[in-house]
Formats: sequence, C-alpha cells, structure tokens
Amino acid sequence: MIYLDHAATTKVAPEVFAAMKPFLQEQYGNPSSWYKLAHSAADAVTEARERLAEYVGASPREIYFTGCGTEADNWAIKGAAWAHADKGRHIIISQIEHHAVLHSCQTLEREGFEITYLAPDNTGLIDPEQVAEASREDTTLVSIMHGNNEVGTIQPIEQIGAICRERGVLFHSDTVQTLGKLPLNLAEMPVDMAAFSAHKVHGPKGVGATYLRRGVKVRNFMDGGAQEFGRRAGTENVVGIAGFGKAIELLQRHGEQDSQRIAALRDKLIADISERIPHVLLTGHPTQRLPHIASFCIRYIEGEGILLALDDEGICASSGSACTSGSLEASHVLLALGYPHDVAHGSLRLSLGPENTEEEIDRVLAVLPGIVRRLREISPLWADAKRKGEL
Ligand code: PLP
Repeated sequence: MIYLDHAATTKVAPEVFAAMKPFLQEQYGNPSSWYKLAHSAADAVTEARERLAEYVGASPREIYFTGCGTEADNWAIKGAAWAHADKGRHIIISQIEHHAVLHSCQTLEREGFEITYLAPDNTGLIDPEQVAEASREDTTLVSIMHGNNEVGTIQPIEQIGAICRERGVLFHSDTVQTLGKLPLNLAEMPVDMAAFSAHKVHGPKGVGATYLRRGVKVRNFMDGGAQEFGRRAGTENVVGIAGFGKAIELLQRHGEQDSQRIAALRDKLIADISERIPHVLLTGHPTQRLPHIASFCIRYIEGEGILLALDDEGICASSGSACTSGSLEASHVLLALGYPHDVAHGSLRLSLGPENTEEEIDRVLAVLPGIVRRLREISPLWADAKRKGEL
C-alpha cells in the first residue's frame, strides 16, 4: 500500500503508541485524583502541554487540550464571538476555511452575527488588504487559516495579524495543517488563537489543542470540572494527550528534516504529473504551499474515478469533493478559487508524509497517466470536448 493522504490523517508513530499504552492499563488514574497512581497521568498531561507550548512558542498556560482540531476551532471562533458580542457582531473569514471554521460561523450567523467571507485569488491567497477593507467598527474577530488542507496555499498570516492588531480585532488562525510543517512561534506572531490536531502529526485521533493567548477573552467551551484551567471541563484524554506530547517530541527531533524531504517529493509529483499528463491544472499557489500537499484538477474526468482506480493499485489518495447524502458536491475551496464545477470535480490531492519514499512516488507516476487515459476514454466530458474541438 502507498499512503498519500497524510492531510486527512496519519499513522500513529510506534514511539507514540508506546507512550500511550501505559495510560490504558497500568497508569489509569484520573489526573485530578490525589493518590500516587494518578500522579503519572497528571504528569503526562503537564509534560505534553509543556512540550506543545515549547514547540509553538507559547506558554503552557496558553495551551488547552481539546477533543480534536474541530473542537479547537469551534471553541476559539464561537467563544470569542460570544465573549465580545457586546462590542460588535461582525466577523471576517475566508471562503476557503475548513468546515470547522465555516460551519461555526454559519451557526453564529443564525444567531445574528454578520460574517464577511473573503474571496481568495485563483491560487488561494487572501490579500491582507482585503481584511483591512472589510474590517469595520463592529468587527471583533478575523479567522484566516495558516495553510489550506485541500490546495496547500499558505496565507500571509503575519500581515493579516498585524492589521488585526492595529484595529484591535482578535485574530484566529487554523494551524491544523501547518503544525510540524512550518515553523510556528506564536509569541512572536500577531495571532491570538490557533488550533492543533494530533492525528495530522502521527499522534492519535480524538485529541487536539487550542492556543489562547494570555488575556484573550473567550467564553468557556465546556462547563463542568476544573480541568484545563477551568475552561474546558471533562476528565482529560490522558492516553491521547500523552501520545500528542510524544508526537510533538518527534517533530522537535526531525520535523524540519522530514518537511524538507517531503517538499522535494511534492515537487517531483507536481513537475512529473504536469509533464506526463495533458490537461492537468496545479491547484493552489505554485510556491507558497505546504510541503506535504500536491493538488490538481485533472480535466475531463471525475476525481472519484481516479481515486477508485488508484485504490485498485493500492494507492490511497483523496479528492476535494465531499460525498454528501448520495450526491457528489464539488469542493467549496476549488469553487472559491474560480474553477467551474466540471473542472473542480476532477480534483486529486496527494499528501505526503515522512514514510513516503521516492520509489513510491515513481510507482504513482508510473500508473497515473494510464488511469487518466483509460478514464478519459469512457468520459462523456472528454468526448464532448473532442467534439467541440477543445482538445
Ligand atoms: N482544520 C483543518 C485545516 C483540517 O485540515 C482539519 C482536519 O481535516 C481540521 C481543522 C479538523 O481537525 P480534526 O480532524 O482533528 O477535527
């Protein structure tokens, strides 16, 4: 099997698995309990918090463990919107945010908040000037993701954050895809809130974290006990948090080298696919892109067909389309970048991880042109284009 869907999720690293195991059976104490059995659980949570804080340039008091990246985004967006509703009810985000942010904002819209959805250019970039122009007296929050999960475009969050600072507006950035891929030093960045997810970095599923800059007013997300400094109640997922901490330790050790190696494989995929397959469009920014994401629209076929054929070859990849209630919807990201529906339907995302090898990439490059040729032979879109003399 060749796994090229690391932007969706990653395999738990063996070291991470080993770090989690003791907390399932031997050291199963509740971190809030007072006896010795519980101390190691409490220590594991503290250690993981310190490690993540150190890695992203935050203070441990600014890191709150959550159930996933989605929860981290929900908390920051809704928590900040509600906490500042007396000042204003206007929020600015981009059209290409992850659904965790988009749908949180849609919920707020139903509660009377007004959301401005900024349109990116055709590479997926948001111009900081757009944020400046959209901001108003009653704007309380801006949320622009750091790296896009579908097309990999990296946003100029330093400049966007600086504009927010000037105007006294809170700035949240979804950093789920950039953790471990791009250096983050939140102490130096004009970012007030950020979101992380362990399963994107070889940690377990079901654990994430919210970064809340000290002093930022955000309504608590879960009511209950005093866990997470009294702001996100619920007995901690010690097993998951211990695994998250170990995953961060591994990133500290070799995340940078891995990212460089992965970026070289990404570049090879992009160059060779563009050269070997006609009518392929690279989606996202040509240079300002995440090291692990190569994304394309392969014209005149449907992405799902490619995915099925790749799966038959033992290759796991994904497309931007989401299969909802039986109908295939084109990706909101690709539509926002200006691709028409039929082109957006031919999307293919190959996302790399540290275990991918050059041989695997060669194998993908060997089979993909044939798959595309065969699918086009039976594609009505291809026949239509031929008839119209487009090819
Ligand atoms: N934000 C981005 C950019 C993502 O790519 C994802 C995961 O796909 C999430 C948020 C949600 O993370 P989780 O799967 O931990 O809920």
